[in-house]
Order: sequence, then C-alpha cells, then structure tokens
Amino acid sequence: MATDIFETRESQVRSYCMNWPAVFEKASGCYQYTEDGTRYLDFFSGAGALNYGHNHPELRDLLVEYVANDGVTHSMDMKTPAKRRFLETLEQLILKPRNLDYKVMFPGPTGTNTVEAALKLARKVTGRQHILSFTNAFHGMTLGALSVTGNSMKRRGAGIPLTNSSKIPYDDYFDGDIPDFIWLEKVLEDSGSGVDKPAAVIVETVQGEGGLNAARMDWLKALADLLKRHNILLIVDDVQAGCGRTGKFFSFEEAGIYPDIVCVSKSISGYGLAMALTLFKPELDVWEPGEHNGTFRGNNLAFVTAARALELFWSDDSFQQELGEKIQQLREGLEKVSAHVKDSTVRGRGFLTGIWFPNPDTAGKVAAEAYKRNLLLETSGPEDEVVKLMPPLNISSEDLQKGLSILEEAVLAATGQHGEPSRLRPPH
Ligand SMILES: *Cc1c(COP(=O)(O)O)cnc(C)c1O
Repeated sequence: MATDIFETRESQVRSYCMNWPAVFEKASGCYQYTEDGTRYLDFFSGAGALNYGHNHPELRDLLVEYVANDGVTHSMDMKTPAKRRFLETLEQLILKPRNLDYKVMFPGPTGTNTVEAALKLARKVTGRQHILSFTNAFHGMTLGALSVTGNSMKRRGAGIPLTNSSKIPYDDYFDGDIPDFIWLEKVLEDSGSGVDKPAAVIVETVQGEGGLNAARMDWLKALADLLKRHNILLIVDDVQAGCGRTGKFFSFEEAGIYPDIVCVSKSISGYGLAMALTLFKPELDVWEPGEHNGTFRGNNLAFVTAARALELFWSDDSFQQELGEKIQQLREGLEKVSAHVKDSTVRGRGFLTGIWFPNPDTAGKVAAEAYKRNLLLETSGPEDEVVKLMPPLNISSEDLQKGLSILEEAVLAATGQHGEPSRLRPPH
C-alpha cells in the first residue's frame, strides 16, 4: 500500500514513524493493526497517552453517543455538563480521597501547555524569575518548557538562548558519591553564592524521556522539605508518570508529599484525546481572568472520556491492586531479560520501566528486533541507551507475558545470542 505521500509531503521532523514504517489503521486494547491486517503488540501506548489501551469500548461508546446527540464539542472555557461532570468526578474520586486541595486550570490541551502555565504561575506568585530543573529532565518543546529540559539536541532546536533556569543534579546523578542537595542547600543559604533564589523547582518523579531515572521517595521528600524551608515552589511534572503509570494515580503519592503545582496531561482523557490540567494550591490562584488562555481549553470530547475513565478505574482500589500485581510481573520479567546482558540494569518504576544497556547501541537494536517481531517499544535516555516499556495499565497478564517473551528474543537477537525471529502469531 502507498506510503510515498508521507515521504514526499511530510516534514523530516517526524520521528516515531522513521523506525516504525507500518501504516496503522485500527487499534484495540494493547494491539494495533496495519492496513494489511498485521497485528502489533503496543508497549509504547502513545508515550503514555493510552494508559487504558486503545479505544476502550466503554469510553468509545460513550463518545460516539455524545457526538451523535450533538453534545458541545468546543467550548473555550464556557460551562458545559461535560466539564461539570469531569470536575465533579476529579474532585470526588481523585482529589478528596487524597486530601489534595487543588484548583484546576485547563491550560490548553498538551503537556507542554501545562508546563508553561506552571512556570508562569510560579513566577507570578513569587515575583522571582529563576526556575531550577534537573539533569536529564524533559518537560516539553515550547520555549519555557525547553528552558527547563536537559536534552541538548532538543534545546538547540530553540534557536535562541534558553534563559532564567539552571540545572541541578537529579537523584543519584553522581552514583551516590556526593550526598544529595549538598550544593543546592549550600547556595540557598549563602547570600554570597551568586545564585538567584528560584521561583520554583520542577521535577519528574521518574524521568520518562531522560532515561527512566526514578527518584527515591526519601529524595523526593527531602526535596519537598528543603523547598518548603526556603519558600520555593515545588512543581511536579506528572504528564507522563501520572494517571496511574507508576501504580498510584499521582506518581508522588508514595512519597507523601504535597506539591504546590502539578502538571497533568497525556492519559488524563483516558482515550488519547488532547487534554491537560494544571493543578495548584488555592492560595496560588493569583491569575487575572484571561491572563493565560487558549482556544482549545474546552475539549468536551476529552471531558466525557476523562470523567468515565476516572469512574471505571479509580472508583475503588481494585484496579490499583491488580496493577500492583502486574507491576511485580513486569519487574520480574525484566530482571530475567536483563540477566542475559552483562551489566545491564532494570530502570524506572511501575509501568514506566525498561532496561539500561552499557553499550548505547543495544537499546536501538533491541527496539528494532522487537519491531521485527511485531512489538512496539521505544528507547529513552540522552543516548537512547534504555529500552522503554509502557504497556497499557489494564493489559492482561497473558499479553504482558507475551510482550516480555518477545522482548527476551529481541534482546538475545540484538546481542548476537540467538537467531531468527518467530513472528507474533496473527489473530485467530
Ligand atoms: C510528554 C511530556 C511533556 C510534553 O507533553 P506534550 O503533550 O508532548 O507537549 C512534558 N513533560 C513530560 C514529563 C512528558 O513526558
């Protein structure tokens, strides 16, 4: 089937489709189907935008019904029943049970939009300009978000100096050789340090793009305490690690911290629709009406699926419990695969996890071998040295095992330990 138009007309800026040339036509749960009917097991999940898999039938049917009944699709920030239902559900099922009193802002529909809103708000509230972020952080591709991102190739794309932010070492950046925060603590306390007091620190609890570095809970707690002592705001970017990806709804829950601002996007719609939230403590709500706005803040199709997804998966603990068991299964499976390659290590947390390889070429080869075997896996890290697994959170234990078996074959093939791919069997 024709693919010329993608090569001749679409920009060179494409990335995923360069490694995965198939044309995907249909999708359901953890599977995607190409135009010629080939089935792929999807352990990529739209980079975390599809935590409940593709086209969850209940969400799909509700969406179809809403559209068929002429429900409002676009509403700027006007009131609609769909928005009411989403806000009520978020309050009842997510915020109240966790004692999180957050105002909800709809900042525009993407992850980078919520990060921009968070940075602006932190600066406005504190009257300070500087933002600290971490080595290997990823926060999005617009200028403010890029200024707090680590990756040098992506930063260069800005084409202008990225200012008003500095990088500080993430947990274990010095392999445990240097105690955490020693630099930060010292310069904040020393009026001669020349380091401007920052408005905020922005952090990912697991660095999804930056190589699956997972911060320890004690480290997160210590960071939160330090910032509180110095009256600096803590922004958690939960765009990728949130919405259940690490086992709880928010990735910071286990650390017992209460961030001042939280960025949410990727899987909040539950259906792969564009949606983002900026959550912040009520006392930070200093915006003037319209001071930060945007045309696509009222994506009602996303409100409809988002509210239902929260009800389906977060009404009680059963989903989290099952997820906990599968996280265990995935961890054990990855440890077993990692044992085939000397000095490789399992990285990440929950269903945001993968294997780091000492040879930076290995992960790319593993992903390519996996693709040959009809499994979609991406790579992560500054040198793409980590193979990354993000299965849907509601995947069956059998499909999870299937993916792990293919991964094992791919790792063996990529490292020259054994031969021919046995292709995933077509659907019966
Ligand atoms: C994906 C991501 C973003 C950016 O989201 P977009 O929707 O691509 O703009 C920001 N922060 C983190 C942690 C992400 O993973």
